[in-house]
Amino acid sequence: MNEGSAMDERMKEIFENIAHVKARIRMACERSHRDPSEVTLIAVSKTKPVQDLECAIAAGMDCFGENKVQELTMKMDTLTQPLHWHMIGHLQKNKVKYIVGRAELIHSVDSVELAAKIQEEAQKRQTTANILVEVNVSGEESKFGVSPYQLPDVIEKIAQMPNIRIQGLMTIAPFTEDPEQSRPFFKNLRNLAVDIKSKNIDNVNMNVLSMGMTGDYEVAVEEGATMVRVGTGIFGARNYIS
Ligand SMILES: *Cc1c(COP(=O)(O)O)cnc(C)c1O
Repeated sequence: MNEGSAMDERMKEIFENIAHVKARIRMACERSHRDPSEVTLIAVSKTKPVQDLECAIAAGMDCFGENKVQELTMKMDTLTQPLHWHMIGHLQKNKVKYIVGRAELIHSVDSVELAAKIQEEAQKRQTTANILVEVNVSGEESKFGVSPYQLPDVIEKIAQMPNIRIQGLMTIAPFTEDPEQSRPFFKNLRNLAVDIKSKNIDNVNMNVLSMGMTGDYEVAVEEGATMVRVGTGIFGARNYIS
């Protein structure tokens, strides 16, 4: 197979995957009486080559999520057209300076200390950083995120940081073969957002619920997700060796 037709094949595969995911999001919206325009599909392109992102862009995607700062900035520097870039992975304090002012939304703020670092960098650049607070709703020890119990306190502290806007919450449900198993965690995240919203804290929006991945995005949409983060469902399985 020559290079051209391999690219065509890949393009076709990514086009079809995106159409499939979008159709399933639309059906989940219908089932839950939601407007599909409320749900943003983020194409999680971690480990995937820039050519794959170009295929997705050709298919109409303009929203990408990455979980490593270096990969995110490399892809941003390569693809210079107007795109929405989301930092969805665990963020180390020493990497904050590379993405503040560049990522549209940081989904993975899991401590007041990390937020303080983001505040410091945002202030230096005279910008405002949009963030989500990551919540560990399942209580799994292997997961990052603030516990639901600590969440109100963490939100109140971050709300006092003038160069940060909290836009909502993010969670990762435990891995399971059965998406229904994720439903209680998604319900839980939405309820936490409702509780926080009712406090009307200055500087705090609860407009964004980032939840749902390839295995459970339809359930997440039914439970109120406004952003779903889909990697494998768009780009296929990841190969961490290459
Ligand atoms: C990798 C990743 C995803 C996408 O996972 P898939 O199962 O491939 O859809 C979503 N969210 C986060 C935080 C991730 O790291």
